[in-house]
Amino acid sequence: MRKPLVVGNWKMNGSRESARDLLRAVIAKETEGLDLMVCPPFIFIDMAAELVKASGIELAAQNLASHQVGAFTGEVSAEMLVEFGCSHTLVGHSERRVLFGETDEIVAAKFVSALNGGLAPILCVGESLAQREAGETDLVVMQQLEEVLKVAGIAGFERSIVAYEPVWAIGTGKSATAEEAETVHRLIRSRLAEESKQVGDKIRVLYGGSVKPENAKELFAMDNIDGALVGGASLDAKAFIEICEAAAK
Ligand code: PEP
Repeated sequence: MRKPLVVGNWKMNGSRESARDLLRAVIAKETEGLDLMVCPPFIFIDMAAELVKASGIELAAQNLASHQVGAFTGEVSAEMLVEFGCSHTLVGHSERRVLFGETDEIVAAKFVSALNGGLAPILCVGESLAQREAGETDLVVMQQLEEVLKVAGIAGFERSIVAYEPVWAIGTGKSATAEEAETVHRLIRSRLAEESKQVGDKIRVLYGGSVKPENAKELFAMDNIDGALVGGASLDAKAFIEICEAAAK
């Protein structure tokens, strides 16, 4: 039985004050029966770590360096993130891939860098609208997964999480249907199970892309959807808590 997980990705939003208020509101209504994580901007992680101390909420970074240490101006390493209280990190979010030119190779290097520094990666994969319309969804998602498998091996997925995030559904208000998402989740799980049945059974595959209180229940009812990576709705404490309640088992 996989425990549901809901992850809130705050992206580059908020102020010190609004981030503190949001986190306090989420902590106050912390839901039982699921794991809960938030991804604050780097600069708020220290403050967030203080706030979540007495709660069960974990912290994930939104990004990390592909190198462990050295002359990489502006970068933040996995070890630094661990020191400041993160247990996880997003890797390969579509905004990193599309807006910052992160290739499958860079994403794979970041995945390994996270593991080497003591962070569990949340690997984001997903197709663009053009790729979906061309019938290439499975191909694209498998290619993104293969690149990581090639360098990290199946052992790299033992502590990891995968998030299926169709690019056309992120921040657009247009979610994949529960059935569309389930098909891709099943594919991801079965590919990993080919390498290790134990990893395939255990790994949590989250759905991301315009998850809201209105569509959360339907998505979470699917066998292979183990929770959500939530962007926009995670900035609204009430909506985020309702999504968490829908995921709780
Ligand atoms: C995301 O940023 O990972 C995301 C899924 O965003 P949204 O929920 O706003 O679509």
